[in-house]
Amino acid sequence: MSDLRDLYQELILDHTRSPRNFGPLPSANRQAEGFNPLCGDRIRVFLELDGETVRDVRFEGSGCAISTASASLMTEAIKGRNVKQAEALFEGVHELVTGPGDDGSAPELGKLVVLAGVRAYPVRVKCATLAWHTLRSALRDDHESVTTE
Ligand code: ZN
Repeated sequence: MSDLRDLYQELILDHTRSPRNFGPLPSANRQAEGFNPLCGDRIRVFLELDGETVRDVRFEGSGCAISTASASLMTEAIKGRNVKQAEALFEGVHELVTGPGDDGSAPELGKLVVLAGVRAYPVRVKCATLAWHTLRSALRDDHESVTTE
C-alpha cells in the first residue's frame, strides 16, 4: 500500500512540475475562472467545444501543487470526451475526494484516483476540486466565476 502511495505522490509531483495542457487556448469558445480563497489558488479553464465534444482544453493560473496537478490531470482526462462524460468525471472526482469510499471504488476514473490522497487533508479538498468546479462552469457556460466555499 505504501508503494502505491509513493506512486500516487510521484504522479502528482510529475504533473505539478510539468503541467499538461498549460497555457492559453486561442480557439477556445468557452472559459471560466475559479478561485480558492482558502489557499489562494487561481485558475482559468479554456474549452474548445465542437458540438458536445471537448476538442481541446487548456488551463492557466497559479496555485499550490495539488491544484496544479489536479488541473493538469483534469485536462488529460476530459480531452476528447463529450460534455456528459466530462460531467460524470466531475461527479466521480467530487465523490472520490469528499466521500468515504475506498480508493478502488471508481475504476472509470483511471489516473484520477491519485486525487483520493487529499481525503486525508480536508483543507486540500478545495485545491483538488477547484479545476473541476471551474470546468463545470465552463461546460455550462454560466459566465460566473467560481469561488470555493
Ligand atoms: Zn491549494
